[in-house]
Amino acid sequence: MTLLSIVVPCYNEEETLHLYYDATVKVLNEMNMDHEFIFVNDGSRDRTLEIMKELHDAHPGEIKVINFSRNFGKEAGFLAGLEHAKGDYITVMDADLQDPPEYLPKMFETMEKNGDDIVGSRRVTRKGEPKIRSFCARTFYKLINRFSEVEIVDGARDFRLMKRQVVDAILSLREYNRFSKGMFVWVGFKAEYLEYENVERVAGETSWSFWKLFRYALDGIIEYTNAPLRASVWVGGFLTAIMLIELIVLLIMSLTGHVFSNTAIILSFILFLAGVILLALGIIGEYLAKTYDEVRKRPHYIIKDYYD
Ligand code: UDP
Ligand code: MG
Repeated sequence: MTLLSIVVPCYNEEETLHLYYDATVKVLNEMNMDHEFIFVNDGSRDRTLEIMKELHDAHPGEIKVINFSRNFGKEAGFLAGLEHAKGDYITVMDADLQDPPEYLPKMFETMEKNGDDIVGSRRVTRKGEPKIRSFCARTFYKLINRFSEVEIVDGARDFRLMKRQVVDAILSLREYNRFSKGMFVWVGFKAEYLEYENVERVAGETSWSFWKLFRYALDGIIEYTNAPLRASVWVGGFLTAIMLIELIVLLIMSLTGHVFSNTAIILSFILFLAGVILLALGIIGEYLAKTYDEVRKRPHYIIKDYYD
């Protein structure tokens, strides 16, 4: 029988885990397929691990539990899950039921019908989300797709059904900074996205603050485009040209007998230039920091306990 692996990264999900498990198993039992859950406890500060162990003991052989030594972030949880998954098909789901399990059979159907390797999901609405957050998200997708060599799908969630081959390809990418929205497009294969309306969490709270999301977006742009680097070259070149023209004009004017006493103009030019130089340095610094992360080759996560 074919095996489906379900990876569930969890951070403080004590309120949602039981609800998630019950809802998902109900759908799985109607499918003609074996399944395994891989719960990853990403350094939760609540009873998430205990609940995982409860579920693990109550359903022998069905659930694997990976317990991280601290919070390593969702991408790390995701990676650990994929590395431990044995299935012919693999999916990743949020523990908060924002990824409706009812979509699994639909994803399989689509995959079989159209011969896809990946069937993803994308939200076409952002109902229940703060307006400013939606606006920033849209701007992010526009920006990154304008400059990146891969097309990152607007609104795509991490909820995807993948064939084994795709997961092996993802695991062959060994970079430290893992921006999965980009990696899934980068590896290629035939992908399709089912559209659905945004679903709100059943319980608990999102762990994404505005600044965390902002940082995440910035990471994506830096990892998938060189546009900021190029932009600083353009801005630098443009300013140099303007300054050169100004210098020539000043020279001609002073030769024709003008006297300059307005140091304010010169001062503001200097300050402006200093700002641009710092900005360019900052951009280089961001890329340098990423490079440093990569060459250090630290592991993506540390496992404290593993329950098979
Ligand atoms: N998550 C995680 N580690 C983190 C943050 C989140 O494993 O550091 C998990 C979380 O428990 C959830 C999934 O990743 O199952 C998505 O997180 P969340 O629901 O907070 O994000 P949103 O759906 O709001 O984008
Ligand atoms: Mg969620």
